[in-house]
Amino acid sequence: MTRRGGTSVRATKRPVVVLAGEDRNDRECLRVLLEAWCPAMSGRLVEIKDSVRLLHAKSHGELTSRVKTLASKARAKAKLERADLACVFVHEEFDRPDGDEYVEARQRVQSALDAQFGNAHYLLSVAEVEAWLLMFPAALAGTVSSWRVPQQYRNRDTGTLVDPKQILMRNVSGSGRRYRESDAPGVLAKAVALNCIDNPVGSNRSWSQLRADATECCTSHIPRARRPQ
Ligand SMILES: [Zn+2]
Repeated sequence: MTRRGGTSVRATKRPVVVLAGEDRNDRECLRVLLEAWCPAMSGRLVEIKDSVRLLHAKSHGELTSRVKTLASKARAKAKLERADLACVFVHEEFDRPDGDEYVEARQRVQSALDAQFGNAHYLLSVAEVEAWLLMFPAALAGTVSSWRVPQQYRNRDTGTLVDPKQILMRNVSGSGRRYRESDAPGVLAKAVALNCIDNPVGSNRSWSQLRADATECCTSHIPRARRPQ
């Protein structure tokens, strides 16, 4: 492969995007979505496996300290891959519905990340990842055929629902196989496979944020990939 005008060592490296979150499911959900929206990320995503908790830092100093720890882990990950660090995505669940507090909390952590990273995205799902899943009834039914999103939860701002996890476990699962948190990445992968990932039934502010961040990252933070012929 020829590269235009460059002889630098950097050209041989593949800048990586680091994923961090509360747990494995969190990171896996991000991975599924980012790879779907930005194929150039495939093969570039590396994970920090330690649980990252920024939302509930008790003071600005504690938040800064936690973000600095995260930054050093992210740089160490990139170094291990012998690559530059292109960007970091951090995902946490707000565990409360959307509202003014959500906007304030998200911005507070995003600002702390901006201070330590060149490029960073803070995804704070409202109230939790399950609120995203409710926007994809076909993917839920495609995962377990008996799962059905009741009419009252369709076409909603799912960020306003207080306990989407319970809705998944009770109302969607019904008497069929009960929804588990570890199902979330598979449901999103099913939405990708069914080609409905960009046609959510309903809305959710944190989902729109993630979608916008994925596009921004793909166009501005990672080197442009060559399109296959
Ligand atoms: Zn980015």
